[in-house]
Amino acid sequence: MVFNNLYPAKVNDRLWKFLLSTYVTFDTGDLNNLSSLLYNEGEEFDGDEYIATNGYDTIPNFLANGLDIQLNQRVTQIDYSNSKIKVTHNGKSCEADYVLVSVPLGVLKNNSIQFTPSLPTTKQNAIQKVGMNCVNKFLLTWNSVFWDNEQYIYYTPEVKDKFNFFVNVNKNNPTVNALMTFAYADYARQTETITDTQIIDEIMLHLKDIYGNSIPNPTNILRTKWQTNENSFGAYSYTAVGTEMQHFNDLANEVNNKLFFAGEHTNIDYFSTAHGAYLSGIREADKIIALL
Ligand SMILES: Cc1cc2nc3c(=O)[nH]c(=O)nc-3n(C[C@H](O)[C@H](O)[C@H](O)COP(=O)(O)OP(=O)(O)OC[C@H]3O[C@@H](n4cnc5c(N)ncnc54)[C@H](O)[C@@H]3O)c2cc1C
Repeated sequence: MVFNNLYPAKVNDRLWKFLLSTYVTFDTGDLNNLSSLLYNEGEEFDGDEYIATNGYDTIPNFLANGLDIQLNQRVTQIDYSNSKIKVTHNGKSCEADYVLVSVPLGVLKNNSIQFTPSLPTTKQNAIQKVGMNCVNKFLLTWNSVFWDNEQYIYYTPEVKDKFNFFVNVNKNNPTVNALMTFAYADYARQTETITDTQIIDEIMLHLKDIYGNSIPNPTNILRTKWQTNENSFGAYSYTAVGTEMQHFNDLANEVNNKLFFAGEHTNIDYFSTAHGAYLSGIREADKIIALL
């Protein structure tokens, strides 16, 4: 709204829509609900950017090496009213002296976990006030490459936040003939109600505008649906209208020295990022170790 008021002539400019979408909405959050006071918060690391060409899961797999991690255990209740905390998951329960809650902000917003007693009001307020953005990814594969041999291929669509750039996967993985594209914010949420065929048609309109009508349809599509995914309910946190920076600390604060909180949304300096999530885990582990 602030941008539209300041630059009314730019409202329908495709290049401006592209820039706001790719460099503001993707990096910081839903432009329609982004705090104009806090949009630029968060720290950056220096140094070069690297692409994990053999998959980002290489990093968590390395970190998980040697740990006893039980997958597919959905926590539904955490009762911290007694000295031993009772955690209920998949209909079973277990006890612990300390619990580190590292589910995404979207899961906390959705009240998927019942806490007994209820979480303190400051934490509940922060859960409500910090925003949860949505970004979805779409990976399309073809039998052969018809696109430019560039790392990124850009497009300026009429509709903001809609498939406006393509990562050329083939550039780093010459055996994979794939392009990956994105949808952000409300358009990302909308895509989750659209079939694969419709999504492919929409993406192909953009690619045909660049490469002509004779390009073939993809042979396969892989896509995320982070908004409706019950393990996340969104992509990452952002400073929405009504967010205050203190809310990130409220999200991080431990309760009764028993219940601890980690995750990107608990890192005031590096919220919304993978490194923010990683550093928050180390921060909370140190707190628990100090109590042992
Ligand atoms: C499309 C997209 C692009 C991104 N790009 C970047 C980028 O370029 N750089 C960057 O730094 N970050 C990026 N991010 C953000 C980054 O991925 C997140 O900030 C980071 O993964 C958050 O880590 P986390 O540990 O807080 O949460 P998660 O990685 O979401 O981990 C939370 C875990 O909790 C589990 N869980 C949920 N509910 C329950 C439950 N009830 N019981 C038990 N377990 C549960 C989930 O299954 C999940 O395993 C991107 C995110 C998206 C979606």
